[in-house]
Formats: sequence, structure tokens, C-alpha cells
Amino acid sequence: MVQEKGTISIHTENIFPIIKKFLYSDHEIFLRELVSNAVDAIQKAKRLVSLGQFQGELGEPLVQVKLDADAQTITISDNGIGMTAEEIKKYINQVAFSGASEFLEKFKEAKDANEIIGQFGLGFYSAFMVADKVEINTLSYQQGAEPARWVCDGSTTFELSEGSRTERGTDIVLYINEENKDFLENHKLQSILDKYAKFLPVPVQFGTKTESEPDGEDEEGKPKYKEVETPNIINTVKPIWTKAPSELKDEDYLNFYKELYPFTEDPLFWIHLNVDYPFNLTGVLYFPKIKNDVEIQRNKIKLFSRQVFITDDVKDIVPEFLMLLHGVIDSPDIPLNVSRSFYRQMVM
Ligand code: ADP
Repeated sequence: MVQEKGTISIHTENIFPIIKKFLYSDHEIFLRELVSNAVDAIQKAKRLVSLGQFQGELGEPLVQVKLDADAQTITISDNGIGMTAEEIKKYINQVAFSGASEFLEKFKEAKDANEIIGQFGLGFYSAFMVADKVEINTLSYQQGAEPARWVCDGSTTFELSEGSRTERGTDIVLYINEENKDFLENHKLQSILDKYAKFLPVPVQFGTKTESEPDGEDEEGKPKYKEVETPNIINTVKPIWTKAPSELKDEDYLNFYKELYPFTEDPLFWIHLNVDYPFNLTGVLYFPKIKNDVEIQRNKIKLFSRQVFITDDVKDIVPEFLMLLHGVIDSPDIPLNVSRSFYRQMVM
């Protein structure tokens, strides 16, 4: 039963064709945006528990990405705080578009999607780069909250109705459009998740894997095993740069280096960065072994914001003399969309 139909408030023009058309080269970003939202929702739930504002059962925090090639959908689910219908109206219908006209202005000047997406709360709406229809199914943590369902077909109208979710959290269902069918391939999604979600602070599951588990003994007393399906968690929730150097051994640094750059020689040495002032920055930078000029590989520093991968195209961001280094820099002070010039000012 539809409780409400409405029009998403846009003052200037319909924004969806713009999102779809112009952000073409960065389509894969939708996954980063939606998975980041899911992580945020879970972090918020944890915070509410620690503040004593939510007494319910937190459960095992988990973000799930599910692919249904037959239905042509990708679903991103979390067991975070969820949303009430009121919150959907506020955060999805209104806030995301309150900056629409400003967005359109900026868009004319921007060189790539990264520069603008996110700045105007367009994170969620990046889903429409790849989907004809997007559905939200959600249940808020708030006591007595009713599940809510929101559907939007990429026009400026939406439908808000009673939902069916029985557990706290949110499912975002994307009905992938014809032009973006390649996102419905397992390995494609896997590689995008590897790129953006590998070090997110909450477990992210993509598919399952089969593992052998002990299953008692056979008649001769030999151990038996059975095959079980276990969730395939794709990320390391506490990568080394988030730990204190005192917790880490040389081996940990070397293993992390190998994980980042397989098939390269061990580095000469490394530094663990932990800066609070004048801005917040953590990271591990490695000095690679260089034998000759040909081997010098620039652009090997990966930039993260709160463990979300942003870019490894750091040539305008990191000062020239650091370009030889490899490793990771993480700064919460950069929004998902890096403003390059802004960041350069911070680093230099
Ligand atoms: P941003 O994340 O930059 O605020 P978005 O457009 O991505 O912008 O999301 C708008 C708002 O919608 C979020 O701030 C949050 O309040 C809400 N939201 C989005 N996804 C979720 C989710 N999975 N669970 C709970 N709330 C969400």
C-alpha cells in the first residue's frame, strides 16, 4: 500500500539525466558511496550503544553486497541504524537535492565526477548512474519504528510506503540498467570492492566460500570433515595504519607491503605516520628499493579517507619529493571527493 507519493524537490532541472550522462567515467563510484553509507550507518549504531542511547542488541556488524544476475539487481545491506519514513523524507528526498542548483552550477566547472560527487549529498544518488530503479527497504533502531520502503525510478517522483524489513538496518536495491550490465558480473563487482572496500572498518561480505570443517571421526577414528558455506569477508577491518607502531612487528609492515604491491622486492625501510596537527593524518610510507631509473614507479601512494579508498592518482596531491614513496595515507579531513587543491595545501 502506497502511503505517499511525491516529487523530489528540484528547483532547476531534472538532475538524473545529468548524473547518468556526465558521470559516465566514474560509474563504479556508486558502490563506494553505498557501501560507505552502510558502514556509516553501522558506526552510528555502535556509537549510540556506547552513548547509552540505544539499548537493543547490536549484533555482529555486517555489510553485505549481493548480486542477483537473474533479477539484474545489486543489493547493499547493513544492520546499522536504519531510517524511519520521516528520515527518508528528510535525508533522501530533501537534503540530497537541496543543493541541486548549486550542484548544476559547479558541474559546469568541474573536470571530473570525483570533484563534485558527495559534496552535495549526492552520494546516495550516484546509484542512478547505474540503476533505472532504486529501492530502499529499512527499519530504524528507534523504539516502535515501522519499516519503510522507498522506490524511485529515476524520474523526480518517488513512492514511500510501508516496508517489510523485520530487522534493524537497510537494504538498498539497485535495478541495474542495460548500459551498465557489466556490473552484474561477479568478478567486476569483486574487483571494485577490492579497490574501495578492502580496508573498511566494518566486515563487508560478498558471496560465500566453501570451507572444510571438522565433523567428528569415522569408524577408524580418523577425523572427518564436512564442506560448509561461510560468508566471504573481503576486507581487513583494522589495517596496520590504524594501529599503534608499538603493536606492530617488522613482519607486519612487510606483509602489508606485499599485500599492497605483490611481486615487488621488500622496501628499504618505512615510516609510520600519525599526525594530529594541523590536520589529522595517519599512514605508512615505504621507501622502495630502487636499482635503476627505469624501475622508479611513481604514483604508488594510495589515499584513503577513514579507510575508504579515494585514489592512487596522487600526483597533484602529494608533493613531488614524496612521489618516490609507496604506501598509504589516510586523512579523515578529506571528504570522499578529494578536492585536490585543498589537499595539496594541507600536505605542503
Ligand atoms: P552523505 O552520506 O554524504 O550524507 P548521502 O546522499 O549518501 O549523503 O546520504 C544521505 C543521508 O541518507 C545520510 O547522511 C544518512 O542519513 C542517510 N542514509 C543513506 N544511506 C543510509 C543507510 N544505509 N542507513 C541509514 N541511513 C542512510
